[in-house]
Amino acid sequence: MLLLNPGPVTLSERVRQSLLQTDLCHRESEFFDLQDEARARLIDIYGLDPSVWTAVLMTGSGTAALESMIAGLVPAQGKLLIVQNGVYGERIAQIATQYQIPHTVVKHEWMEAPDLARIDAALAADPAITHLAVIHHETTTGRLNDLPAIDRLCQARGVRLLADTVSSFGAEAIDFGGHIDAVAATANKCLHGVPGAAFVIVRRAALANAVSRTYYLDIARYARQQDQRNTPFTPSVHAFYALVEALREHQDEGGWQARHQRYAALAEEVRTGLAALGIEALWPAAQSSVVLRAYKLPAGVTYEQLHDGLKARGFIIYAGQGGLSSQLFRISTMGALTAADMHRLIAGFRELLHR
Ligand SMILES: *Cc1c(COP(=O)(O)O)cnc(C)c1O
Repeated sequence: MLLLNPGPVTLSERVRQSLLQTDLCHRESEFFDLQDEARARLIDIYGLDPSVWTAVLMTGSGTAALESMIAGLVPAQGKLLIVQNGVYGERIAQIATQYQIPHTVVKHEWMEAPDLARIDAALAADPAITHLAVIHHETTTGRLNDLPAIDRLCQARGVRLLADTVSSFGAEAIDFGGHIDAVAATANKCLHGVPGAAFVIVRRAALANAVSRTYYLDIARYARQQDQRNTPFTPSVHAFYALVEALREHQDEGGWQARHQRYAALAEEVRTGLAALGIEALWPAAQSSVVLRAYKLPAGVTYEQLHDGLKARGFIIYAGQGGLSSQLFRISTMGALTAADMHRLIAGFRELLHR
């Protein structure tokens, strides 16, 4: 079965085999070597300076890393502005509410791009705002939000930026040179690891001002202990094995730029193949990530019919979220997939639509 849902992904044989390595106690040096390698490789993907940045690992899905970042990095006297144009932006607002972090939301329709003028006006109107949170790739619709433009607003207003890069880290450009203080992501999306290991890439300066609102997801404690070759709790050792192997493979294959090219080529195969069958992409390629694209459901076919027909042919596609489920379906090109797989996928669509 090939997974075309936005994570977990189809594993390469190399990563799958890494799960079969020897059993490890998480309090032995062998585990800390693994942890050190994962942390070093994670900040190396975007060429970050280890004296300025660090990678904080935790056990959980991508949401654990997001929760750790939001709960830990908005200071006690801080206030968060959340840019929302999909399910994941809503999730950040729910996390802020959960921890009673003062926040304000610049809401958009799920089909809208972030409105820079509205965001800037919201920043200007409220000098209490210290941090802005935004989703880089809003997986709800496949839209790649304009992170550099939002970063420039933050720079002009003296606000720090926290980004959800869960479905872009490792495959889309991220410029860490502006006001980004931290990004949260996970092993099992563009990095091609297994679910269970998540991480925050964070400025050491921001960690110095971190607050402890959560016990298990306390980012400062994870950072401190990991710097001392330690760990507060039992990590998912196997997920860490797979993450390290996936990071080695990511580098061997040419880093984030090569992964970007590979996804872009696969996504274009799908887009042109579906266009020939009369199925339209939701966005032009320039507004979309290379990681996942949303398509309009063709007339006369339900999502369930498409899903079940493709599943019988070995492919898992993904529904639209919430109100979009009757209008859209989504295809991710993350994971160990090839152009030949995409050709077979298009052939599957053709058979189903011509019934
Ligand atoms: C997948 C995803 C998440 C996290 O989902 P989990 O199920 O917790 O791994 C968060 N944000 C975005 C943009 C995502 O695509």
